[in-house]
Amino acid sequence: MNIFVINSGSSSIKYQLFHWPAEQPVCSGLVERVGSAQATITHKVFDAQSPATPPVETQLTLPLPDHEAGLLEVVRLLTAAPSGVIQDPADIALVGHRVVHGGETFAAATLITPAVKAEIRRLFSLAPLHNPANYLGIEVAERVFPLAQQVAVFDTAFHQTLPEYAFRYALPTPLYTEQRIRKYGFHGTSHQYVAAQAAAYLGQPEARLITIHLGNGCSMAAVRGGQSLDTSMGFSPLAGLVMGTRSGDLDPSVLLHLLGPLGYSVEQVNTLLNKESGMLGLTGANDMRDISAALAAGDARAALAYDLYAYRIRQYIGAYAAVLNGLDAIVFTAGVGENDALVRTRVCQHMEFFGLALDESKNQQRLPGLRELNTPEARVKILVIPTNEELEIARQCAALLPA
Ligand code: AMP
Repeated sequence: MNIFVINSGSSSIKYQLFHWPAEQPVCSGLVERVGSAQATITHKVFDAQSPATPPVETQLTLPLPDHEAGLLEVVRLLTAAPSGVIQDPADIALVGHRVVHGGETFAAATLITPAVKAEIRRLFSLAPLHNPANYLGIEVAERVFPLAQQVAVFDTAFHQTLPEYAFRYALPTPLYTEQRIRKYGFHGTSHQYVAAQAAAYLGQPEARLITIHLGNGCSMAAVRGGQSLDTSMGFSPLAGLVMGTRSGDLDPSVLLHLLGPLGYSVEQVNTLLNKESGMLGLTGANDMRDISAALAAGDARAALAYDLYAYRIRQYIGAYAAVLNGLDAIVFTAGVGENDALVRTRVCQHMEFFGLALDESKNQQRLPGLRELNTPEARVKILVIPTNEELEIARQCAALLPA
């Protein structure tokens, strides 16, 4: 069976095809600048026999007026020589869609029906940047793969296990009951995937874990027995850690000050907090590779930004060790967490009280796959686990099928 995973953004489509039940990635790709005359597609076909062989890559630049044109072009790549891996769109049995916001309705992957689509539309107001683009991907995939089952996998679903005292804000009750203002949390697919990997590695299904997803967006989760007990993102993906361009936690009065005395519009505040803050606001760059190069060159702004970034993570480790009443492992994942040894060093420094002891030589090694970076005698494991949201989406889709 073939499972096709789609992550549809406002001007991009990320996709991956798996052979199931082997969980074998067949090909993956990225369509960018959808809606322009200069759209691009990067399509990679993996070697089934030897996964270590670099994938065969096709690069295209072409006009793609909309998402449907983009997906039809992807289908052409999937079916035509030399990149073809299937005969026909009908060879795809299941399409899994990443949907950012599932509100309180969806606590697990869900077969898409007209009622599910209506609910995803109702949630547009909670995720105006993401859900409409995800929804568009569903509508287009329904036309392009009419015979496939369509499944939605929600970024918020994993965090639906938070207890009410963790997800509620101390605001008047009707703002929750009528306006649905509460903590939802995001990156759930990634936290769920690495937490399951970590628990399996430790041989402890009830492991107390802190999962630390550090990519363009950053979030942490306190996970016990495979259930999320708390997470750092909130009503939106703006809360919590310092991110590439997002501020993370902020005294809400800062917003009032910006909107009042400083004369910002709502739109300006939105742009400021989501696109101009975080590491970009602190240093002028948002990619950690550029910031670490600046740090190495003695840039004081980069030094402060690294300190602030790591300090916030350390604060959340303290908080979540309390939430979990102990700690078995912390897990670093995503672009920064998997690659930036200095971030890991700074996060684990002076954390002896929590049982963290990093083996710096292991930390500096660049190896693929799951890695254990703590010293042998350390009480708490420090793990790096590459995230794989596409695989997790495919697994959750496959689990919905009758055995
Ligand atoms: P993600 O959202 O998981 O794709 O992560 C993207 C981010 O990972 C980029 O913005 C970079 O800041 C960071 N990143 C990727 N590769 C490296 C690397 N080798 N060293 C440090 N940071 C990296």
